Amino acid sequence: MKYEFWFVVGSQFLYGPEVLETVEARAREMAAELSKVLPYPLVYKVTAKTNKEITDVVKEANYRDECAGIITWCHTFSPSKMWINGLANLQKPYCHLATQYNKEIPNEEIDMDFMNLNQAAHGDREHGFIAARLRMPRKVVAGYWQDEKVHKRLSDWMKAAVGVAVSKDMKVMRFGDNMREVAVTEGDKVEVQRKLGWQVNTWAVGDLVKEMNKVTEAEVDALVDEYEASYVIATDNLYAIRYQAKEEIAMKKMLDREGCRAFTNTFQDLYGMEQLPGLASQHLMAQGYGYGGEGDWKVSAMTAILKAMGENGNGASGFMEDYTYHLVEGQEYSLGAHMLEVCPSLAADKPRIETHHLGIGMNEKDPARLVFEGKAGRGIVVSLIDMGGRLRLIVQDIEAVKPIMPMPNLPVARVMWRALPDLTTGVECWITAGGAHHTVLSYDVTAEQMRDWARMMDIEFVHIGADTTPEKLEEELLVKDLVWKLK
Ligand code: MN
Repeated sequence: MKYEFWFVVGSQFLYGPEVLETVEARAREMAAELSKVLPYPLVYKVTAKTNKEITDVVKEANYRDECAGIITWCHTFSPSKMWINGLANLQKPYCHLATQYNKEIPNEEIDMDFMNLNQAAHGDREHGFIAARLRMPRKVVAGYWQDEKVHKRLSDWMKAAVGVAVSKDMKVMRFGDNMREVAVTEGDKVEVQRKLGWQVNTWAVGDLVKEMNKVTEAEVDALVDEYEASYVIATDNLYAIRYQAKEEIAMKKMLDREGCRAFTNTFQDLYGMEQLPGLASQHLMAQGYGYGGEGDWKVSAMTAILKAMGENGNGASGFMEDYTYHLVEGQEYSLGAHMLEVCPSLAADKPRIETHHLGIGMNEKDPARLVFEGKAGRGIVVSLIDMGGRLRLIVQDIEAVKPIMPMPNLPVARVMWRALPDLTTGVECWITAGGAHHTVLSYDVTAEQMRDWARMMDIEFVHIGADTTPEKLEEELLVKDLVWKLK
């Protein structure tokens, strides 16, 4: 889907046709200029002066799949009672850009004509009131429309809004059920479909094996060529690589046939397969598919959504798991990895394909997997949990580092990071909030974008960052628990 956003500008008839012509011309110019610097086109739609014009543009926005959201701005005053019917029916993400056409107050030129035309300072407040009065979920971005800071914030919001569109279209393919007895990977699939739009369904592992048996040697050859171009082959076990290629081709065919953008499997259910998909799942993630281990469909769908919200619609985000800590004073870090499936978009350097024995699960042969170190840099980890009756999205700021030791005998990709505000306080906060051991780790999606996404999806949002304390967090969770029971 080629997404776009619509620019809806508020005005009224009071100023006469000349002012309205100027408003429209400027709004068109702004949309065209902003489209050059934003990740998605901003399409000028209307200078709205009546209830009907607003209601009509909202109806059309709701109906058009390519419209991922609307951005409103009031160049002049726009009495907001005429916005009520439209906004009350709006089903798309909504950003209020509080800006003005002119950057400076023109000292010599300013007179009452100028004032009649350039009234965003109070037009945007009237517009803001009605959205507050209607309890509209919205993003407010204030600043000069040509400033880079404004561009960055609009860009980030657009990507979060595309995350909403991707979520509402999300289908997850589950091979097998959740790992036995695990609690945090469970959840109410009916409620998740109502709230987030996800269609989460299961397919038999036997059907995947049948699909694998239909894969041709030529198809495997072509994918192995692609592996060779993308990764360093660091094993003699070409059989394992070819087997993973066969798994990947079969899974991709099934995913694409069903329109699924995310999948799960579990090492407890591999009947008819020789290896848990490692390289296969990793290379699918590299192409933008979401993945969750042990049947974790929530983290799988979230991985696909964060990828879509990242750079160029497939950013540096991947399925992650907290494994073990380094608790030496002054060097406290968390080591994240998974038994195989870490996305190469997180890699600092070209990943190596290796084969090693995997003791857990039903692997008859040593699975091939990509091994690498994660990039250093700021990021977030994200966990979506089911609190019973509602979803809670937990986001923690992290600082990833180049792993401080080489760990030559660890046969999996690894990322090392410090949770904020510091490792142990961060862990206390994470555990207090109920965050899972599975997360999506992202280098290019921000906590603010996830907050925007959660607001648009109407789910609880908890952010753990530099200023979080366990005491404040506990109080916040108590209040939110009450609020979300009432909603
Ligand atoms: Mn796991």
